[in-house]
Amino acid sequence: MEFSFFYREEMITEAKQTDFDLLVIGGGITGTGIALDAALRGHKVLLVEKNDFAYGTSSRSTKLIHGGLRYLKQLEFALVKEVGSERAIVHKLAPHLVIPEKMLLPLREKRGYGSLLTSFGLKLYDWLAGVTGKDRRLMLTRRQTLRREPLLKKDDVKGGALYAEYRTDDARLTIEVAKKAFAHGALVLNYCKAERFEYENGKVAGAVIRDVLNEKNFTVKAKVIVNAAGPWVDTLRKEDGSLQGKRLHLTKGVHIVVPRDRLPIRQAIYFDVAEDSRMIFAIPRGDKTYIGTTDTNYSDDIDGVQTSREDAEYLIRGVNESFPGADLKLRDIESSWAGLRPLIHEEGKSASELSRKDEIFESESGLISMAGGKLTGYRKMAERVVNLVEKKYLPPFKVKGSLTVGARLGDGAFINYKSVRKYLLALKKRFRRIGLDESHAHYLVNTYGKQSDLIMERFNESDEPVLELRLLLAELWFAVHYEMVGSVQDFLIRRTGRLYFDIHSVRTFGKDVVDQMANYLKWSEAKRDSEFVALEEAIHRCVVFKQ
Ligand code: FAD
Repeated sequence: MEFSFFYREEMITEAKQTDFDLLVIGGGITGTGIALDAALRGHKVLLVEKNDFAYGTSSRSTKLIHGGLRYLKQLEFALVKEVGSERAIVHKLAPHLVIPEKMLLPLREKRGYGSLLTSFGLKLYDWLAGVTGKDRRLMLTRRQTLRREPLLKKDDVKGGALYAEYRTDDARLTIEVAKKAFAHGALVLNYCKAERFEYENGKVAGAVIRDVLNEKNFTVKAKVIVNAAGPWVDTLRKEDGSLQGKRLHLTKGVHIVVPRDRLPIRQAIYFDVAEDSRMIFAIPRGDKTYIGTTDTNYSDDIDGVQTSREDAEYLIRGVNESFPGADLKLRDIESSWAGLRPLIHEEGKSASELSRKDEIFESESGLISMAGGKLTGYRKMAERVVNLVEKKYLPPFKVKGSLTVGARLGDGAFINYKSVRKYLLALKKRFRRIGLDESHAHYLVNTYGKQSDLIMERFNESDEPVLELRLLLAELWFAVHYEMVGSVQDFLIRRTGRLYFDIHSVRTFGKDVVDQMANYLKWSEAKRDSEFVALEEAIHRCVVFKQ
């Protein structure tokens, strides 16, 4: 059975007939991470996701695998140590997808911490995370800083620092973890919503699941249930009647995307916004630069979070103050996304002050909920939950302890970053011969790793004359057959990131994608039309801001 919609009915039948050890609710990085950890230990796992994998926060982050420098300021040493150390591990697990990126931190007159404190802070950051050799922080003079980034406002730069982080694609990381869990025997279903719990002797023993696509309910049995529903965690705790004590505090974070030539920074930069001293990132990705994030309290509809004009203007002002030559305007924004941080509420603390630490809540009924945390720390978070499950609810099965540290991600995974670069060079050569721009080779390798081989085989079989479209359709074929894609947005947002980073291709080829998917998945005329309308709406949400 492949990880494809072609086998969805079979999977649902299996879900109905199996007694699971563990039911995981939520297909973000937290839920897929837990499913993988438990499956590797030999447990029978079912994961259900009400929309697409990574539909929630896990496709809307800053897309960094980072230690969280600013958490040092909040004296969260344990958090910095854990996520800092995890960076190198996650890079090893997926070197094509978690890519080293030096971050530039400019130091400004009368702002921030000054050179001495920054130097000490970064040294501590490296030390906590075990960073060694060339990756250790490097302090820069004013001249060196401006040489590295000539676009910075010259008047007040007094120096800078370079430190090591990694960039990634959050949704791709999530789908690769989901695929790995499936490969190790977990049943992993998108578009299946946990509606309510089933109890035996007052303890959770299963759930009623709604197959959202066919509008039918079915029941599943599980010895243990983990609620990894991100911003929706409290909705499920409420359903369980156990929403007491600590609760979630949602904060909204927005990113905007502009053409690289409108903010042609040479590398990723972490800088402060003058008006409120908050730190934001500007990160180059292909021929775009993305900027974020905001951090504001949110109490509106969780499924309807959107960038507002105020969010976009704040980020534009922040950029223009630090890079005055850019003179960015709202109309330069090509795309955007907004996500919700599922943080734990702390009385009297502002959005930015809330801890990013993960926490586990256990209810009287045995429902285990996990909230907070970071994309970066997903592996350790999963380990903690599955350890708890084994300690209190299930005896360890075949193996003791987590095995995820050795579970490389992406079919035919690379052994290291050097082999990624070698593969990329060969693909670039091939692309030059075919007449495709080299940037497509970068995109393909960073998105799919060695799975690009399968995509290129399909590409070679096609006679579509427009090469860009031929490549896109080969990717679609791969996504439909191996990545459980069930809607056009699954493909254009969460498998390829195109809606954010190449919206032009979505506008140009969106209809071709809808038509081809309709053929693959045998959609009716009405379904085809509704997918097209939904895609238009998704484009609209990225570019037209809420007042
Ligand atoms: P989600 O990704 O939201 O997943 C929960 C899933 O549960 C959703 O897909 C939802 O559809 C599903 N669900 C809900 N209810 C049900 C139900 N009843 N039945 C079935 N499924 C259900 N972290 C980093 O490490 N690096 C960063 O650069 C970074 N940047 C960030 C920037 C922003 C703006 C934000 C908001 C967060 C950022 N984070 C970052 C944090 C990180 O993104 C989150 O910690 C992480 O993605 C949370 O994942 P999750 O799986 O817990 O939640």
